[in-house]
Parts: sequence; C-alpha cells; structure tokens
Amino acid sequence: DSYLNPAYTFDNFIEGDCNRLGRSAGFAIAQNPGTTAFNPLMIYGGVGLGKTHLVQAVGNYIKNNNQDKFVLYVSSEKFTTQFINSIRTDSLRDFMGFYMQVDVLIIDDVQFWAGKEKTQETFFHIFNHLHGAKKQIIMTSDRAPRDLQGMQDRLQSRFKQGLTADLTQPDLETRTAIIQKKLLAEGIFIEHNVIEYLAHSINTNVRELEGVIVSLMAQASLNRREIDLDLARNTLRNLIIDSDKEVTIDTIQDVVADHFKIAVSDLKSKSRKKEAVFPRQIAMFLAKDLTELSLKSIGYHFGGRDHSTVIHAIQTISDITNTNPQIRETVEKLKGSLK
Ligand code: ADP
Ligand code: MG
Repeated sequence: DSYLNPAYTFDNFIEGDCNRLGRSAGFAIAQNPGTTAFNPLMIYGGVGLGKTHLVQAVGNYIKNNNQDKFVLYVSSEKFTTQFINSIRTDSLRDFMGFYMQVDVLIIDDVQFWAGKEKTQETFFHIFNHLHGAKKQIIMTSDRAPRDLQGMQDRLQSRFKQGLTADLTQPDLETRTAIIQKKLLAEGIFIEHNVIEYLAHSINTNVRELEGVIVSLMAQASLNRREIDLDLARNTLRNLIIDSDKEVTIDTIQDVVADHFKIAVSDLKSKSRKKEAVFPRQIAMFLAKDLTELSLKSIGYHFGGRDHSTVIHAIQTISDITNTNPQIRETVEKLKGSLK
C-alpha cells in the first residue's frame, strides 16, 4: 500500500499564483520521477494551503501512470513511530531496507523531526541512498528549510539541494476558482455574486474556504433553501463569531448605519447620496482598522469602489480625527462598540 488518498489529484488542484511554482515542479516530477533537477522537492507553507494535496497528487499520478514504481506516502510522525518500533523490536535493518527500495518517497510535515536526532540520522542515510540511486524524494514542511530549528545542518542542506517552493495564501482569483470548482463538484449552483462575496470575505486558507462551503451546504439543506447572499452572510457571521469574535465588515456596516441613522444599503451602494458619503468613509476607515481585509476587498464591500477610493476615505478620516475632537470621539465610540 502506498498510503495515498486517491482523492488528491492534479485535476482537482486549482492552480494560482499562490502555488504555481510548486505545482509545475510537482507536475514535472510526476512525469519524470527521479530524473528532473527537482530532487528533492521541498514544498513548504502554512496550514491549509495545499501541501498534502499537492504532494499526494504527484504520488497518485505516478502510481496511476507508472505501475512499476513503488510510491510511498508517509507522515514524518509515522516515520518516527516506525523507526522507534524497529529499534524496540530489533529490526532496524528491515526498516532501513524497506525505505531504501522505495522509488518515490513522500514525507509530509518534516518539521516534526525537530530535535529528534536519531530519526534525523536514520533519514539522512535513507535520503542519501535514495538520492544517489536517482529515486525521487518529496517533502513538505510548515516553514522554509533554513527556518527549521532543531534540524541537523547536514539534513537542512540536503533539503535545499533540489527545489524549494512555497505555497502562499490564495489570491482572490484563485479563491474564486476554488469555490466554484468545489461547488461544481457537489453539483451545486450558486449565483456569481454569492461566490464573489465568499471569495472576498474568506482570505485565510483553502481549508477554511472548504469549511465554509460545507457549512453553507448544511445550512441550505437544513433550511430547505438555496444558497443566496443572505444565507452566505448569516453563515459567515455565525462561523466567525463562534471562532474568535473577529469584527466583520457586516457588523461594521450595521453599527455605522445605525449610528448615522441611514440604511445599510446606502453604505453599500454606488450612490453618491450626500448623507451616506461621510458614514461610508468612516465605515471604510474602521474596516481597514479592525479587519484583515485588503483595500480592494473593502472597496468591493462598499459598492465595488476601487482601492484608491478606499485610501482616500481612510486618509480623510484620519485627517479629520486629528483636527476635530468631536469626530475623533465618534470614531472611538464606534470602534469601542465593535470590539
Ligand atoms: P496543508 O497540507 O498545507 O495543511 P491540505 O493539502 O491539507 O493543506 O489542504 C487543505 C484542504 O484544501 C484540502 O482539502 C485540499 O484538498 C484543499 N486545497 C488546498 N489547496 C487547494 C487547491 N489549490 N485547489 C483545490 N483544493 C485545494
Ligand atoms: Mg498537510
């Protein structure tokens, strides 16, 4: 058994700026394992960004197209456990022998080996053997090799010997594509504005995006309704309030509209209605201050304004708060009630 999960493929791995290098190196390896310059391939990045998916896609591709290759996927923790057991049962030679006959070795999350001297030493030997025999080695880590504290220098330098590629947070375009593809795979159709809203609002990682989609589907079937903007807003609000009480753009808009006695829709519309201009600028200012959203995303939530409009609003409000104590107090009060 290769311990690969067949669900992780290149077909359902969305390519974007955030993963392009790693994906193309992975795809090149999938076609020519062991013989490209990418040996080892080290993929690193934060949680939920697709490391496990990508390296398993490489493994699955080879397994399916190259049946005589022995592909093995193993987490670094499992490797360590097997290693310790082999010592306990006096079978270290078998353990080493087994790993040395693998054609494509995929080790996930090597950061767990920090400080584990014996494991590192053993892997070092296996690595050298496989690498010398032109066998493919693929690894993942939650940080760059140079930042792996507690990892022997000689091992760190082996990690950097081939290609190191990082996966970063998916950009808006990639998030949109991921949401679309995941929904499509579930056979669900939702309006584009809902997808747009989700892609703008969730800018952490892919795992979180998937979590929201699952919740949305659950909510929709529970309440026997379509996934529309309303349901999306409510679901997101509940999820975020449950997790870490982050301030959302929806709450900011509600609070600001309420304070200035205008309709939330006026804040969010393209309208140049005079009474909405100033509250809208304040709401944008608060959104920049209290959320992680980019200027572009903030603009989107206020009637699709561009980022220069948002910059202008932020500048205007910070200038006014410096010269007008009354307005400063209002802004502080709004901020206080949001936190
Ligand atoms: P990591 O190993 O970096 O923590 P995973 O590979 O487990 O992340 O990815 C988390 C989830 O997000 C998985 O369900 C995976 O299928 C999905 N995912 C990540 N990146 C992508 C992508 N580019 N396209 C499609 N799904 C992705
Ligand atoms: Mg992983």
